[in-house]
Amino acid sequence: MATAVKEALKDLKGRLEDKVAIITGAGSGIGFECCVIFAKEGARVVAADIDFKAVEKTVERIKDVIGPLHLSKHALPYKVDVTKEAEVKKLVETTLKEFGRLDIMVNNAGIMHPHDDNALNTDEKVWDLTFDTNVKSVWYGSKYAIEAFRRNGKGGNIINIASFVASMGSATPQLAYTASKGAVLSLSRELAVTHARENIRVNTISPGPLNTPLLQNFLDNDEKKQRRLVHVPCGRFGEPIEIAQTAIFLASDEASYITGADIKVDGGITAAYVTPE
Ligand code: NAD
Repeated sequence: MATAVKEALKDLKGRLEDKVAIITGAGSGIGFECCVIFAKEGARVVAADIDFKAVEKTVERIKDVIGPLHLSKHALPYKVDVTKEAEVKKLVETTLKEFGRLDIMVNNAGIMHPHDDNALNTDEKVWDLTFDTNVKSVWYGSKYAIEAFRRNGKGGNIINIASFVASMGSATPQLAYTASKGAVLSLSRELAVTHARENIRVNTISPGPLNTPLLQNFLDNDEKKQRRLVHVPCGRFGEPIEIAQTAIFLASDEASYITGADIKVDGGITAAYVTPE
């Protein structure tokens, strides 16, 4: 690279410069957007998902966005099933091998099962798969991230993606999903308290209803969409980039005194009694 270009780039530090981040569920929605903007802000990113083809596309997008000057060793596509502890352990080990350290863990992968229903109709298999994917995965991701942070000796940062339904009930029942997101909130709070003196921050983001496949696959007609939107003061679904922008703040040093917090990014849904006309 020409010396003049190097000099010009020297002061253009991103908010996550020199940080290494793992993002799960990186093949779609929130995870995809997090990968792209984390990389833009200087992080080296491991884009992890059960769908390898999808994360290959995520990494292609990162390359498009950050440009050829920054290509080398900036992003790694990685196949992982977050319900399997051994695979999550290997994900962290591979990250340490490839990038030498881990600073940020975004436990984002999650599912909303099509047969998730009320207490009477939800099958135990649906319950268990939902809890394995949405809760145990967060435990595994946090566990191996904390071990890696301890090796850094400088602490680290965990961001767990919960949901607005952790704080309110859904009248279109999805009991396993709702309960799983409540568990994400409570386990994250306790992790934050336990590891605060090690300079490890743990926070959650509770998104409202978003324009991503996880929700929109269920809302296949306008009536179903309106059934949700009537409760959202903003009157629209959120975009995954709006969650990623919150994640980047929490991951950065700008949020250095924030731990054990839940940030609701939900268009006002959890604040509403009735919505504006
Ligand atoms: P999405 O469906 O667009 O993406 C989820 C990604 O997770 C997919 O790429 C999928 O392949 C991956 N994944 C699923 N199971 C996995 C597994 N076992 N191992 C590894 N990867 C796996 O969903 P999204 O809307 O971006 O959701 C991301 C997170 O946000 C989830 O935890 C979800 O519960 C939460 N959330 C979403 C909404 C919403 O309305 N979309 C609202 C609140 C919270």
